[in-house]
Amino acid sequence: MSYARTSEDVRQRDGHGVRYQVRICERIAREHGCAVIASYSDNGCSASRPSVVRPAFERLLADLTRGRTESGQRIGGVVCVADDRLYRRAEDLARFHAALTSALGRIQLDARGVRNPYTHEGLLQAVRSLDDAVTETRNRSRRVADWHWGRAVEGVPHSGPRPFGWQEDRIRLLTTEARLVEQAINDRIEGKAVWAIAREWCDLGVTGTRGGRPSAQTVTQIITAPRVCGYRANRGDLLLDPATELPVLGQWDPIVTPQLWRAACATFAPGSLYLHRGTGAPRRGGSRSAPRYLATGLLRCGALRPDGTVCRGAVCASKGRSLRSPYAYSCRSCRRCSISGPLVDEALERLLFGEHGATRGVSSAERRRWQSGQMGLEEKRKTLASLLVHCVVRPGVKGDRSWDFSRVEPVWR
Ligand SMILES: [Zn+2]
Repeated sequence: MSYARTSEDVRQRDGHGVRYQVRICERIAREHGCAVIASYSDNGCSASRPSVVRPAFERLLADLTRGRTESGQRIGGVVCVADDRLYRRAEDLARFHAALTSALGRIQLDARGVRNPYTHEGLLQAVRSLDDAVTETRNRSRRVADWHWGRAVEGVPHSGPRPFGWQEDRIRLLTTEARLVEQAINDRIEGKAVWAIAREWCDLGVTGTRGGRPSAQTVTQIITAPRVCGYRANRGDLLLDPATELPVLGQWDPIVTPQLWRAACATFAPGSLYLHRGTGAPRRGGSRSAPRYLATGLLRCGALRPDGTVCRGAVCASKGRSLRSPYAYSCRSCRRCSISGPLVDEALERLLFGEHGATRGVSSAERRRWQSGQMGLEEKRKTLASLLVHCVVRPGVKGDRSWDFSRVEPVWR
């Protein structure tokens, strides 16, 4: 039986690559007084990627193990133009070798001649082929990565579809689209929701460069891609010049300044800088929203664990149980400590505007803005964080519904 495989037949899926291999296998078999009774071909299947299933290879192994081809003929061996057609990974070599030697009297044939798979020398030869194949795979992927990196540091635009905002040459701006991108970046910095921008674009009849309707996700990708300010990304990271450590500048015309691009990116949650990552690449970070509660991240659990130590787990916002406490803060680690949300928030204000806070630098202007409702949540949280390391929350007494502000114990900076 013969096995043939090509890894890439993308350009012309006519399979001539495997057909030629089958012919060569037949010739090799003839030269050694054998005949090919069954052919197994995997066209366009990589043997180096573990995720790729090669159906014909799997059938070959099954038939070898069973000892007969599908038509019931007895198998005397396997012919192949070279070992790396059969395997490029150790797992596949092990499986193939076990299947081939599952019955006695079989041979392996290739352009170099007959091999006895049951001998030490036969197995060593197979391992050497595997070693060569693995080295070649490694070098090839490094060459591809180097090639992309080389293009990137030269500031050559990404290959692939035309980016939104640029002409087909990927260098000059497409004025209509570029204006939209610039407007969107400014709108976003001023606080506009991405979905609102996406809807505007839809209303204007804008389509993506591949014809799709703009969504919040595509708008986000477009306005946070480093290319909008002329920076070059490579494999999802901002590319820095190895000599200067400064971002590599692309050869294309930018739409906005780096300052504006950074400001737009900063409107998204930290860790979710939406760099262009190519098709199918998983997104790092995700889209966690900014904290919505005053004390999120600022509270530590003061409950005692059974072993007598203090829990110190993060006490996080959760849904409350009453009108008076529509939200609560609860320990995620031990679940022994829960406290009314408004109680904590008021306790924090008391701490801040009590004598401790005043001596630690809360100005009367800040206090006025806070208490008159002019100060936003983010600024309030920053003010708190500048004064407090955190607060330890003592567990409440079961059944006691009174508000005990002393349960929130400050650890001042
Ligand atoms: Zn706890």
